[in-house]
Amino acid sequence: MAVQKKEFAVIGLGRFGGSICRELAQLGMEVMAMDIDEERVNEFANIASHAVIADSTDEMVLKSLGIRNFDHVVVAIGDNIQASILTTLILKELGVENITVKAQNDYHEKVLRKIGADQIVHPERDMGRRIANNIASNSVLDYLELSDEHSIVEIIANRAISGQTLQALNVRARFGLNIVAIKRGREIFVSPGAAEPIQMGDILIVIGADADIDRFEQFLA
Ligand code: ADP
Repeated sequence: MAVQKKEFAVIGLGRFGGSICRELAQLGMEVMAMDIDEERVNEFANIASHAVIADSTDEMVLKSLGIRNFDHVVVAIGDNIQASILTTLILKELGVENITVKAQNDYHEKVLRKIGADQIVHPERDMGRRIANNIASNSVLDYLELSDEHSIVEIIANRAISGQTLQALNVRARFGLNIVAIKRGREIFVSPGAAEPIQMGDILIVIGADADIDRFEQFLA
C-alpha cells in the first residue's frame, strides 16, 4: 500500500489499540503509544516511536505531549466509557484534526458523535456482523458495509451464472448492481468488460443496495 508518512497517537493499548499501534508502526508511521498502565506501555516501548505512561483525561498532560500536532489520534480506551468520552472531548477542544474512537455501545457512539469524533468504530460488532454474513450465506465470501443500506460484497460464481458474459447476466438492469471487479485465482480484473465470460469459482466484487444484493444472492441459490 502506498502510504504517506504521518504522525499518529494511539491512546489505550488493549487488544484493539495495541493492534492499531503495531500495524501503524509496521507501515512505517510515527506512532506515539499511550496508556495509563505501565506494563502495557512497556510492551510497546520497542514497537512505537514513543511510548508514554499517561492518563489521557488529564488535559495538561495531553497539551504537554503536543497532542495537537499529531495528524490523527485513535482513542481505544475499552470499558471506561467516561474516560473515552472525556479524552475525546479534550482532543476536540485542543483542535486535533482527526479523531477515531472505539465505541463500546450505541449510547457511547451517540455521545461521541455529538462531541465531534470524526470516525467511530465498533470492531467487535462489525466483525461479528461480517462473520455472521459470511457463515450465513453460501455465496457471500466477504462484505464491507458502505452505509446502512449499501455494501460491497464478494460473491462466488456458481453454476447459475458461470459461462455467461457480464452483458448477458446484466446485473445492472436486473438487480441494480455493479460488478466492479472479478477475482480469478491470483488474477484480478478491475472494471471487467461486458464481453467477459464468468467462470465457475470466479469471485465477483459487487456494489449496490443491500436489498438488491439479497435478490442477487437468492437468484444464485
Ligand atoms: P480492548 O477491548 O481493546 O482489549 P481494553 O479495555 O483491554 O480494550 O484496553 C483499554 C486500554 O485503555 C487499557 O490498557 C487501559 O489501561 C487504557 N486506559 C483506560 N483509561 C485510560 C486513560 N484514562 N488514559 C490512558 N489509557 C487508558
